[in-house]
Amino acid sequence: MTFDDLKLAPAILKAVHEEGYETPTPIQAQAIPAVLEGKDLLAGAQTGTGKTAAFTLPMLHKLTHGRSTTNKFGVDGIAALVLTPTRELAAQVEESIRTYGKYLPLSSTVIFGGVGMNPQIQKMKAGVDILVATPGRLLDLHEQGFMDLSTVEMLVLDEADRMLDMGFLPDVKKILALLPQAKQSLLFSATFSDEIRELAQRLLRNPESIQV
Ligand code: AMP
Repeated sequence: MTFDDLKLAPAILKAVHEEGYETPTPIQAQAIPAVLEGKDLLAGAQTGTGKTAAFTLPMLHKLTHGRSTTNKFGVDGIAALVLTPTRELAAQVEESIRTYGKYLPLSSTVIFGGVGMNPQIQKMKAGVDILVATPGRLLDLHEQGFMDLSTVEMLVLDEADRMLDMGFLPDVKKILALLPQAKQSLLFSATFSDEIRELAQRLLRNPESIQV
């Protein structure tokens, strides 16, 4: 299989080719078609398997085909939300979104704790298509009235096991309650405890399961 077989938009393929990627990794070959079909996904994958592109590429593709959802602040609403356990991972994921999406007219931003809130508030006020965030800071901004999550169409929980290990389950549950019911959800985890399975069961609808 090649990337060209995956029917991604030419602007995305161009960026992928520029990265020097020749063939999709196993997680990409399985996840990308399922996500493009609109399925929820339960994916068992470690770091280093190419999991970031596995969710980022189809996400970008789905958002390429026009969206114009204005949120309650009168700016572009968040279409896709990626939750990660750490700021390092959040920054890395957002960097990948920028790389693969560089020929698309989409905006992305990253927010995490431990730094000033004002620049993040300004970015939310300007409107953003794809938001990558750690759970605590996302909720802080929501509680202060700067976050409208009502337009989210796609949710990714990346490294869900680490998120739970770090004690973020209550925050993740609070965030899930703020999202629309109708959305596509993807859960990536390296390991599967009972807690992860319970979370997956609560969140995912008839998911495609992938294990690499
Ligand atoms: P990840 O598992 O998402 O952290 O990705 C691990 C590394 O693999 C990153 O440095 C990516 O740039 C790289 N990568 C992802 N997909 C491919 C691919 N299809 N071919 C070659 N390298 C890739």
